[in-house]
Amino acid sequence: MNSIEEEHRGCEKMEKEVHVTFLEMMYYLLPSPYESQEINHLTLAYFVISGLDILNSLQSVAKDAVVTWVLSFQAHRGTKAHLNDGQFYGFHGSKTSQFLPDENGVLTRNNSHLASTYCAIAILKIVGYDLSNLDSESIVTSMRNLQQPDGSFIPIHTGGETDLRFVYCAAAICFMLDNWNGMDKEKTKDYILLCQSYDGGFGLVPGAESHGGATYCAIASLQLMGFIEDNVLSSCTSSSLIDVPLLLDWILQRQATDGGFQGRPNKSSDTCYAFWIGAVLRILGGYNFVDNKALRGFLLSCQYKYGGFSKSPGEFPDLYHSYYGFTALSLLEESGLISLCSKLGITENAAMGL
Ligand SMILES: [Zn+2]
Repeated sequence: MNSIEEEHRGCEKMEKEVHVTFLEMMYYLLPSPYESQEINHLTLAYFVISGLDILNSLQSVAKDAVVTWVLSFQAHRGTKAHLNDGQFYGFHGSKTSQFLPDENGVLTRNNSHLASTYCAIAILKIVGYDLSNLDSESIVTSMRNLQQPDGSFIPIHTGGETDLRFVYCAAAICFMLDNWNGMDKEKTKDYILLCQSYDGGFGLVPGAESHGGATYCAIASLQLMGFIEDNVLSSCTSSSLIDVPLLLDWILQRQATDGGFQGRPNKSSDTCYAFWIGAVLRILGGYNFVDNKALRGFLLSCQYKYGGFSKSPGEFPDLYHSYYGFTALSLLEESGLISLCSKLGITENAAMGL
């Protein structure tokens, strides 16, 4: 047994205090392996701040300083006419992707991104910022520039991949800002429905292999847009837009013999899918079909002695898998954790603005 494996041994309970310390360290200074992810600075901050919220430990966060920092990434339009210039006026992911406007107030290099915008707005909600102070209309109106004729979204106005990840970001942004002017909902819905595969799961794009993360993006988006109700399994499933029984069949087969969830057939269990798959089951009202004890056992086998969760047992932890370890344990109703809003990926308290 190597030293990493030894540091994962003997985890029978969630070591909440150690995880709080782990996230507080990340809050003050990210370790050097994250240097290459500087472009995703807001996303890393989302994992830290939302993680502390789930662990009921937001008191260590300087909320006003966080608000000022997050708002500094916002791309501001010049005049109202700029909303029709084809650009997206959301949030940049980091300082390196952000350039100041020219002397006329025009952003000539605007790299604001849908994922960073989702993370920015989520953080602002978590720290209790009043979102009515944001220029929501600019964000959502300019978001229309990102929607493609097939209903999908590009993440940045200069181009990029179009798939369900950015459909989800767009839906979550509209939901949190309570303003749906940013998308043609019918077109978006049609795109999502095209992504359901023959086996019941959803692929990232129409015709692609079913995937746990894509399935979360599809189901959470449909619920945010109001196309599927809570606990659809306990209501009349035959009236649902999607093939729910086939989806349930695919999704329940993702719990592997070691108790963890895999993202696709024939893949190893991975901590993050305990959220992506688990949250879909919560939204559908099918979480009671999960073997909770086995899933918890798998997650604790990925808990690191000095805080955080790894992707698989015996590996080093990282912020991404740590965050989804916390969200997954919240879905499992682990004591001491704040309950999660499955469709938004933040706590219920933050989602409700408490
Ligand atoms: Zn993963």
